[in-house]
Amino acid sequence: MRTEVLCLREGQEEEKIRKAAEIIRAGGLVAFPTETVYGLGADALREEAAAKIYAAKGRPSDNPLIAHIADRSSVYELAASVPDWAERLMDAFWPGPLTLVFPKKAIVPDGTTGGLRTVAVRMPSHETARKLIRAAGVPIAAPSANTSGRPSPTIALHVLEDLNGKIDCILDGGEVGIGLESTIIDAAGAVPVILRPGSVSAEMVREVVGTVETDPGAEHPVKAGVQPKAPGMKYRHYAPKAKLVIVTGRDEAVAERINGLTAEYEAAGTLCGVICTEETEAGYRCGNKKVIGSRRHQETVARNLYAVLRQFDEEDTEMIFSESFDGGQLGQAIMNRLKKAAGYHMIRV
Ligand code: AMP
Ligand code: MG
Repeated sequence: MRTEVLCLREGQEEEKIRKAAEIIRAGGLVAFPTETVYGLGADALREEAAAKIYAAKGRPSDNPLIAHIADRSSVYELAASVPDWAERLMDAFWPGPLTLVFPKKAIVPDGTTGGLRTVAVRMPSHETARKLIRAAGVPIAAPSANTSGRPSPTIALHVLEDLNGKIDCILDGGEVGIGLESTIIDAAGAVPVILRPGSVSAEMVREVVGTVETDPGAEHPVKAGVQPKAPGMKYRHYAPKAKLVIVTGRDEAVAERINGLTAEYEAAGTLCGVICTEETEAGYRCGNKKVIGSRRHQETVARNLYAVLRQFDEEDTEMIFSESFDGGQLGQAIMNRLKKAAGYHMIRV
């Protein structure tokens, strides 16, 4: 299959979106930008279309897909019940990077939900995404547009690297805004439970609903034999090819430990890399340090995380040491992805 790249910055946006929507309607696969990461879209109401997503990504079939909608009213076509507090969350954060999980209606095929009786729904704020969904006239099932297990794509080139020849089309809308996947909240129970942290933080949810819980799978490794509420949580996600270790503590102590470790590994012939920030860069001696962003602008760290992991892959880096990025609105989401990429390997100094 030839993968066609339609670049939206080169004009004729409406026509290109219409073409991509026709592919979705015909049961094909289109990668498209959202405000979180690039998604790999197919008609959410057709089992055989969703099956193509799993095949292209190499995604385990029990890992369900999020249905993306363009209008708030569509949620009631997919969800069998919507609690009051979920309505308030939609008022506050839709369109935007918040996914809600509801009991599903029969119209949603099991092939989209990995056999679950629930369906995850999100209304993205990215204009292109919403135009595509409207033009297709169906909800679009869209996981991140990467090969399963690789860092999620934040530019169209990342999608091409992973899925060239496996999907029909890529809508290239430039770099995404947030760079981390949506916050997922279970709205099938009595209170909101965060299944996956994202840029809508626990604090922001608490402000709207008054209460919020966090599923253990969102913060800790899932124990063998335990079925997490978000099935995706049990897979090693976002992983670079290199081994990644997070070092956490006071800035100077972190730099000192990382300098010691990189010197040791480099002496043994291992290709090392360091993930640091504008503020801390000067403290590292490793030849391959990458500035992920600024500690004063946490959103730059979130936006660059996956691209930095991909760059290390390209350079065949074998061992990566990273600072940690706790605290603030995005800290929980950044650390969730970083810890998973590290297989929860952390050193405290
Ligand atoms: P991705 O689209 O790659 O960001 O992955 C979607 C995430 O949403 C995975 O971690 C899924 O396990 C989770 N998810 C999708 N549908 C459901 C659902 N019905 N219940 C719980 N988690 C879900
Ligand atoms: Mg994904």
